[in-house]
Amino acid sequence: MVRVLLDGSLAGWRAHARALAAACVSPTEIEWVDLLRHREPGGELFGAPQPSPLPEAPSQELGVPRAFLARAETVACHRSSEVWGLLYGLLHRLVNGERALLDDPLDPDVATLTRLEKAVRRDAHKMHAFVRFRRLEDEGSRNGERFVAWYEPSHLIVAREARFFRERFPSMDWSILTPDGCAHWDGKAVTLSPGAPRDRAPDHDELEELWCSYYASIFNPARVKLKAMEAEMPRKFWPTLPETAQLPELLADVPRRLEEMARTSRRMADSAHPFVPKAHDLDTLRAALPACEGCELHRNGTRAVPGHGAPDAAVVLLGEQPGDTEEREGRPFVGPAGALLREVLEGVQLQEQDLYVTNAVKHFRHEVRSPASGAGLEERGKRRIHKRPTTQHTSRCQPWLDAELALIQPRVLVALGATALRSVHGPTARMPDPCTAPAPVASRYAPVTLSTFHPAAILRAPDAARGEQMRAHLAATLAEARRSAGLVTGSRPPGSR
Ligand code: SF4
Repeated sequence: MVRVLLDGSLAGWRAHARALAAACVSPTEIEWVDLLRHREPGGELFGAPQPSPLPEAPSQELGVPRAFLARAETVACHRSSEVWGLLYGLLHRLVNGERALLDDPLDPDVATLTRLEKAVRRDAHKMHAFVRFRRLEDEGSRNGERFVAWYEPSHLIVAREARFFRERFPSMDWSILTPDGCAHWDGKAVTLSPGAPRDRAPDHDELEELWCSYYASIFNPARVKLKAMEAEMPRKFWPTLPETAQLPELLADVPRRLEEMARTSRRMADSAHPFVPKAHDLDTLRAALPACEGCELHRNGTRAVPGHGAPDAAVVLLGEQPGDTEEREGRPFVGPAGALLREVLEGVQLQEQDLYVTNAVKHFRHEVRSPASGAGLEERGKRRIHKRPTTQHTSRCQPWLDAELALIQPRVLVALGATALRSVHGPTARMPDPCTAPAPVASRYAPVTLSTFHPAAILRAPDAARGEQMRAHLAATLAEARRSAGLVTGSRPPGSR
């Protein structure tokens, strides 16, 4: 019997295995003693085995298939002390006439090789996922800091997996400490050192809180399967994972969050949301709008009217819905109300190039009325009478507005009328008193948001005095919009969008 002492490395095994295989020593005549794997947790060796004299290594090549060497490199990381005997057995057969041995998955030795190889790969995958670095001040490291992690792999993979962490975190100095060995990176080279006890690594740092909040934010209650979770993230790793401390709390919150998710998805399904593309420009949105079936208005025989204006407008004017003329022409604010609006805009010197106009609801809600009896020939056709959209219409249509305004990002948004106002500030928002000065507030759509009267409401004012008041409020609000947007006589200030 030949006794071979190994240092636990593949290189050490290769040197001996090559000589033994070339001398045709049978696998059954060799005892492989791995000093690393024989080391007890305390660090002492079992006894002190003595090596046997080895045959001289012959000079000729053995002709070992490359695939075997690659697989041996992985399997050599397995913690089992059987690996060296297994690898030698395979090597012996490969160089003694069974060159296609590895192609036979049913061969017991090949099957064992595959099983051990899978175990090492699975362990490496877990290490990539579960190593958590903590920051330490370290004057000897770049930037005066070092990131240190404690980890207990199932197999002897730290040296092999150091390559992965070097590529993943090249710009930070790090150390991964394990009981079997440690790897360190300083920006130039990975160095290895003997295993270290757990208390050499810090158990928390100031980044941990950030990481925990991030984990809580991405924790998906819909995908919680405790058994699968434990299989993916075995409990043995939990003590080194900061996020696991909050798992009981997150799990207890799962029923509430599932209910909330169900509510949100019901709301999204009942809206324009599925029809709004993840657009990078307004043209894509415009092209998708006609297909919208987000509410029943798409069935009322009208076409959806998209917003119109400069894609980088500083000021967005938001109306209620297209009127009869707008729907026919396919553009917002082109009817009588639009004419009044243009007049007021001219008065305050807000120019078209700085504006984008759109509506809270894109279809024309109306009812069809027959002409009164005795109407003249020119009045005989049926008339489409404006009907105010409901809160449900505005909320279902809101994804279009969200998408438009997310692209434009206006400095100022002006809500014209109650429907527009409520689509911005919610259903309880109230129209301003026409006698008060414009009151800018921030909203989710723009840092400056103003509200005033819709020009159509001014045209329908109950009396001339009230109409004048409302018109004055509209003009003052648009003048305030121009001022807030930093526009001087309608032109853009240098350097602005
Ligand atoms: Fe879609 Fe809005 Fe038209 Fe309703 S009004 S169908 S949500 S575009």
